[in-house]
Amino acid sequence: MTQKITLQDSFVARQRIASGIRQTPLAASPALSAFCSARISLKLEQTQITGSFKLRGATNAVRSLTQVQREAGVVGVSTGNHGRGLAYAAAQAGVRCIICMSELVPQNKVDGIKAHGAEVRIVGRSQDDAQVEVDKLVASGMTMLPPFDHRDIIAGQSTVALEMLEQSPDLNTVLVPLSGGGLISGVAMVMKAVNPSIRVVGISMEQGAAMYECLKAGKPILVEEKPTLADSLGGGIGLENAYTFAMTRDLVDEVVLVSEVEIAAAIRHAYWQERQVIEGSGSVGIAALLAGKIADPGNCVSLISGQNIDMALHKRIIDGEDVDVAAESQNIGDLDA
Ligand SMILES: *Cc1c(COP(=O)(O)O)cnc(C)c1O
Repeated sequence: MTQKITLQDSFVARQRIASGIRQTPLAASPALSAFCSARISLKLEQTQITGSFKLRGATNAVRSLTQVQREAGVVGVSTGNHGRGLAYAAAQAGVRCIICMSELVPQNKVDGIKAHGAEVRIVGRSQDDAQVEVDKLVASGMTMLPPFDHRDIIAGQSTVALEMLEQSPDLNTVLVPLSGGGLISGVAMVMKAVNPSIRVVGISMEQGAAMYECLKAGKPILVEEKPTLADSLGGGIGLENAYTFAMTRDLVDEVVLVSEVEIAAAIRHAYWQERQVIEGSGSVGIAALLAGKIADPGNCVSLISGQNIDMALHKRIIDGEDVDVAAESQNIGDLDA
């Protein structure tokens, strides 16, 4: 039995990470409120340092290491937002950080990780090859920090929910982008502990919604990864999932799926109506609202989870194009979280 993650863990995490992260603003959205006949606000977590909420979990995990673990350093496999957050958190703590990735990963992603101070180790031509290298580094004493299925990561992500409750004390619906479920597990744990009637809705993309398929199957299963504008939501939940499957199953009220066209419309709305640059994965709550997929939102906070989108792709979308990333069959390296 794994020990439960509690509201106390969330408050402890908040104190632990306070000096390393930003408190992000909550902004009312008059445009979405009028469109939905409700009170819609956006939690602008894309303005977090490193461009996503992943810094919260990574900072909490790095700062929770023992002295021996800190001296040996940390290792990760993510080339996306978790990799960025982990690199930054480790650099801030003076802890060595190695991110392993395959040689198929595009140079801009490699540079993004390096810019935050991590060592990048390029190994082989697949994520599996990268994993072999990670296993070697772990055997040598380094600590592997995964992107979502880890107590300290979940507790770190949950701190965004404490801010949301302070900024909108009478909220009754929260919309949370959902992939491996670290974010929504933390958010739902806090919301339900404070008030079980707060509705927690997970939003994923139709293309490769891993947690959604696992919930339907009643257990963690393999789900095929597909190209999507919500690239930070790609990837599976892990067949040996320890926390996030059960927490999502037990605490989340519903999971809604959005299409690629709906995601593009949401990125466009965020830019033209809200003046925010957000990535596809961060836009799925807005996508669900604009598509009329959230019944009776009430006083609703939609969590905008990240901003790390390729700016040339962003420009095409805001100029009106419903970019079909499947048809353009993107590089494998663009698909991982
Ligand atoms: C990682 C990520 C998510 C999903 O978080 P999980 O904890 O894996 O569910 C959503 N949005 C962005 C921008 C992310 O980087």
